Amino acid sequence: MLATVLHGPGDIRYEDVAEPKILKPTDAIIKLAATCICGSDLWPYRGLQPQSGPAEMGHEYCGTVVEVGSAVKDIKVGQFVVGSFATSDNTCPHCKHGFQSSCDQREFMTGAQAPLARVPLADGTLVALDRVPDDDLLPSLLAVSDVLGTGWYAADAARVQAGSTVAVVGDGAVGLMGILAAKQMGAERIIAMSRHKARQELAMEYGATDIVTERGDAGAAQIKALTRNVGADAVLECVGTNESMHQAINAARPGGSIGFVGVPHGVELKGEFLFFSQKNLLGGPAPVRRFMPHLIDLVLNRKINPGKVFDQVLPIADVAEGYKAMDERRAIKTLLRV
Ligand SMILES: [Zn+2]
Repeated sequence: MLATVLHGPGDIRYEDVAEPKILKPTDAIIKLAATCICGSDLWPYRGLQPQSGPAEMGHEYCGTVVEVGSAVKDIKVGQFVVGSFATSDNTCPHCKHGFQSSCDQREFMTGAQAPLARVPLADGTLVALDRVPDDDLLPSLLAVSDVLGTGWYAADAARVQAGSTVAVVGDGAVGLMGILAAKQMGAERIIAMSRHKARQELAMEYGATDIVTERGDAGAAQIKALTRNVGADAVLECVGTNESMHQAINAARPGGSIGFVGVPHGVELKGEFLFFSQKNLLGGPAPVRRFMPHLIDLVLNRKINPGKVFDQVLPIADVAEGYKAMDERRAIKTLLRV
């Protein structure tokens, strides 16, 4: 079959690869209904993450089960499923504690920017719908797999609750989903940090109440100014740079919380800075599996429309153009039709 392969910085090809097969009895093979490009795919695309040889790309997926291994008990051929980018058995102590992305058996999905994909630990990783969803819901169900789940975790980790004042650092797809999540959790004020008009508009649509265009120390100072010099109760860090991480911590009030989900690149935090900041920090790869049943329910009942974050739709054969558009920030997030 044809699938997406990254050969090196800037070199994405849609080319012939071997079809996925059941490798372990706990695997399933799914036929994708749609797939997409993640902001985190841009790190290796930009050469900012070491790569050893060609890599089959893609970790966001939903679709129909076409084959299951002999040990798969709950997931059946023919079911429409959504799964997380981090696979999980959903039975180990970390899974039971709601941190499926630290599962004892975790693997990170790859090879999902393709017509077919292998999903390890199918029973624990996948959530089956009780019906085939309407086509117009596919973008939103695909969003659950990573971008929405990750934005949701950022808000959850930042302890957003009814009445919270929230600041969101990063206006990429995850930041926008963090705004949606904070709104759903009852935040009273949501300050989005963005300097791009289209993204500001989507931020407001998803529930932002204020826009801050300054970055770094000036951005943190602006958050303080908007909160009577107190700082935000909750800050969602959705970028992963040294500047954005410091900005996020500085924007929170003492005793406040930061949920950080941007994959760190060059972030260095000093002990003294953390000590005197007096703030809660929780982040990491999102345990999307914990939130999936609730998020799928919100999508199927049309309470939320995370799929709107896809502002570019391409046939998967044009995947290289999708990477380019996201890299140049011409697209927020690209959906690939399979
Ligand atoms: Zn587990």
